[in-house]
Amino acid sequence: MNPTRSSREQHTQIGTDKRNRLRLCLNNPIAQTDLSNLVTNVATAIGSLANPETALDDQNYEPFTSIKKSVKPDHLVCMDCGKKFKTIKRHIKASHGLTVDEYKRRYGLPSDYPVTAPNYSEKRTSIAVNLGLGRKAKK
Ligand SMILES: [Zn+2]
Repeated sequence: MNPTRSSREQHTQIGTDKRNRLRLCLNNPIAQTDLSNLVTNVATAIGSLANPETALDDQNYEPFTSIKKSVKPDHLVCMDCGKKFKTIKRHIKASHGLTVDEYKRRYGLPSDYPVTAPNYSEKRTSIAVNLGLGRKAKK
């Protein structure tokens, strides 16, 4: 009795079994459907794990555009209706009844996602700075 040899034989046996089972799956259309369902389920489960807050929301919201495309220098695109805004906070509350947090959670937006278009907020900052300087100069 050679233990090394017998274990290697066993290993080969298991390998052949797996291959045969795989071949059966591929030749069987029903098994193939099951397999693709399984893949979909696994993908959904992984997606839920990656986004636990999204999983709590039982409704599935289809974003109007991608996160990247929704932020432009001069405007933001509403992920819900696709309209363009310089600042989106008032719109999502008025039109969709969402707070910024709810809106971000619904569409899986990052916490640093802007609610004001970058150029617009820059202008507002410079206006505020200019006003401050003007006031100081008057004194
Ligand atoms: Zn909208």
